[in-house]
Amino acid sequence: MISSLFKADAFYDSLNDIDFEKLYHSGIRTLIIDIDNTLIPYYQNVANEETKEKTAYLKKLGFNIIIYSNNWPWRVKKFADSISLPTYSFALKPLKMVYKRIIRENKLKKDEILCLGDQLITDVLGARRMGLKVFYIKPLVEKDSYKTIINRKIERYIFKKIINEKM
Ligand SMILES: [Mg+2]
Repeated sequence: MISSLFKADAFYDSLNDIDFEKLYHSGIRTLIIDIDNTLIPYYQNVANEETKEKTAYLKKLGFNIIIYSNNWPWRVKKFADSISLPTYSFALKPLKMVYKRIIRENKLKKDEILCLGDQLITDVLGARRMGLKVFYIKPLVEKDSYKTIINRKIERYIFKKIINEKM
C-alpha cells in the first residue's frame, strides 16, 4: 500500500512531547534526526541553546545521535560545527543511499534506529523505504525555504487524501 509508505510510527507536535526514556527502554539506541525545521528553524544556521540542551539530554540517556539533512554541505557544516555530532549532508532523502551509508559507517542495527523529521516525502518516506522506525514531528516554524514549498503542497494532499489527518 502506498499510504503505508507515508505513515509514520507516530505523529508529534514537538520533539519535547516524545518520551525518549521509554524509547531507550524499548531498545532504540540511535536517533537519526533531520535538521531544518526539526532541530532548528530553517532560517537558522547553528544550534540554539534549546537544541544543545535537547541533544545533550538525549546523549545522557545513552542515545547515539546522528544528524542528516538534504541541505547543502556548507549549510550543514555550520550546524555540525556548532553541535559536534556526526552529520550527513546532501542526503537525498527519500533515496536509500544515505541511510545505507549511515548504517554501514556507524555499524548500526536497523531495529535499534529511530528517524525523526518534519517532512513526509523525505523523512518519513525515506525511513519507510528502508524499513526503519520513523516519527513525524510538526515543523518548528510554519514558514519553509523555497525548496520545501512544493513538498509541503504534496504533503497537504497526502495528509488529506491518504492519511486523513490535518497538518
Ligand atoms: Mg526538515
